[in-house]
Amino acid sequence: MKENKNLIKQVLRYAGVILFLLAVFNLVIVPNLSSRKVTETDYSYFLGQIDEGNVTKVNIQENEIKFEVKNTDGSTSLYSTGKLDDPELVSRLYEKGGIEFDASFESNALLLEFLVGWVLPIIFFMILWNVIIKGMGKRMGGGNAMSFGKSNAKIYVKAQTGKTFKDVAGQDEAKEALAEIVDFLHNPGKYAEIGANLPKGALLVGPPGTGKTLLAQAVAGEADVPFFSISGSEFVEMFVGMGAAKVRDLFSQANEKAPCIVFIDEIDTIGKKRDGNLSGNDEREQTLNQLLTEMDGFDGKKGVVILAATNRPESLDPALLRPGRFDRRVPAELPDLAGREAILKVHAARIKTEQDIDFNAIARATAGASGAELANIINESALRAVRNGRNLVTQSDLEESVEVVIAGYQRKNAVISQKEKEIIAYHEIGHALVAAKQKDSAPVHKITIIPRTSGALGYTMQVDEGEKFLMTKEEALARIATLTGGRSAEELIFNSCTSGASNDIEQATKIARAMVTRYGMSSGFDMIALETVTNQYLGGDASLACSPETAAKIDEEVNNIVKKCHEKAVRILSENIDKLHELAHFLLEKETITGEEFMSILNQKVISIA
Ligand code: ADP
Ligand code: MG
Ligand code: ZN
Repeated sequence: MKENKNLIKQVLRYAGVILFLLAVFNLVIVPNLSSRKVTETDYSYFLGQIDEGNVTKVNIQENEIKFEVKNTDGSTSLYSTGKLDDPELVSRLYEKGGIEFDASFESNALLLEFLVGWVLPIIFFMILWNVIIKGMGKRMGGGNAMSFGKSNAKIYVKAQTGKTFKDVAGQDEAKEALAEIVDFLHNPGKYAEIGANLPKGALLVGPPGTGKTLLAQAVAGEADVPFFSISGSEFVEMFVGMGAAKVRDLFSQANEKAPCIVFIDEIDTIGKKRDGNLSGNDEREQTLNQLLTEMDGFDGKKGVVILAATNRPESLDPALLRPGRFDRRVPAELPDLAGREAILKVHAARIKTEQDIDFNAIARATAGASGAELANIINESALRAVRNGRNLVTQSDLEESVEVVIAGYQRKNAVISQKEKEIIAYHEIGHALVAAKQKDSAPVHKITIIPRTSGALGYTMQVDEGEKFLMTKEEALARIATLTGGRSAEELIFNSCTSGASNDIEQATKIARAMVTRYGMSSGFDMIALETVTNQYLGGDASLACSPETAAKIDEEVNNIVKKCHEKAVRILSENIDKLHELAHFLLEKETITGEEFMSILNQKVISIA
């Protein structure tokens, strides 16, 4: 910041000097030399003045004659006249005598104009440029002017992350792959003996929050070698060429310190596919090209290992991924049940908990959560314990914070009318009943009608017993039926519907659409991929790959699937309408009920309610 100010000051000072010189030129010298008042006359006046002997100087130019006439008071004035084809003019001037005359095709004035108009600005800009470069050189750490190619930034970072593989729970495959690299850096001889070449680079890929950055930090902690860490965005500079210079610099420093690890986080910032687009980003492409060149340039045996992390591997330039560069891909996937439990335990070790915490139950309730989310759940539970004046975290703290992370905080003071509460209760019991009455559905864990800050007015939580990796067609259909159960209950009991089902509709449509376009689970289409997933790790957006007619057919199929499931849900509910009433009233009274309470009422003999 301070250097920036200095730079601006310097530029302003130079600009001031130049402006002053220009002003002097224009105001003092130029008028004296060129801008004397010139009066235009005709040729006969010119000849007359020569004859009278008043002319002292004549300057014959290409199209014009300028001449000086002595006035009676001794001063002189300047005149100009058009040039005629007058071959005798010279002899006439000569004969008259005492007249200075010459010919020129460019007057001094023109020369000056040229100087002022062209040469000076160029000099001015050259000086300005010099000053800017000099300032930049200083900012980059004391380089001299015009040394654009060297950034001199200190990127070198010693491994002080304090993280080891013990801090990373789950991710066993990733750890194994990285442990090999660490081992290589510790005793390269072992590998050289057999003649094995270790991969030059490993690319950590996976959804956000799965511990990619954490893994790299752990590698640094384990490796005990110099560790250069830089984020992809740090290469992005305002000037073309600066990013490339940084890459050069990074690698020359790394080469000096080998064996060492270079870690580039969020590499997709610079590693995006180069496209044929002419208006492409020059700076980014140069940086990428430099990175490719550097990765080819260094000796794999020397022990510079490059790690990079990204959650958009599909957007990376293929050149980056070919063998010899990032030839090894280390996946950091969302944790499975065991992984989630392990992550919860790693983070829970940092807080004070009661003795008998069932982490497995929490892990089962958090299917699909990333490591970062699990870490957040642990932290939320500790905050909740403090808020409630306890010094140990309990199971219920953990359970509540799962819901906080999923659905937001409870809105205890939200005012909801009795009528609306009733609708919400029937809606949620509708979901739960449909789920419980189908055999391919996960058991109900909890039902609540306490509104949440996320906008949910209530929800039904289902938790699978174990880990599921596949979804059968029956499960998918059961899931859709469960989602339509809420609306079905509203229709059955109140004979109308509310906007409360919008989220259910969204989810049901998503599943049904995926069944048709990606899982080949519809009757209308065979095993045809009608959609391609574009970014797998960031939400998994899909784009249609079919004709408009097919798209219309897909919509029809999707509608049919949801419709059938909806009908099934209505059927289940009307068959169990007494239980629906009983459970809804129980929920209205309690606001939150557990899965066990729900099941015990469901399995009781029907007590008829009026
Ligand atoms: P990303 O994959 O987006 O780089 P990070 O490595 O930054 O994710 O992870 C964010 C945080 O999530 C970490 O600081 C850590 O607290 C937690 N975390 C993620 N994965 C794990 C894991 N496998 N074990 C322990 N903590 C994890
Ligand atoms: Mg990261
Ligand atoms: Zn619902």
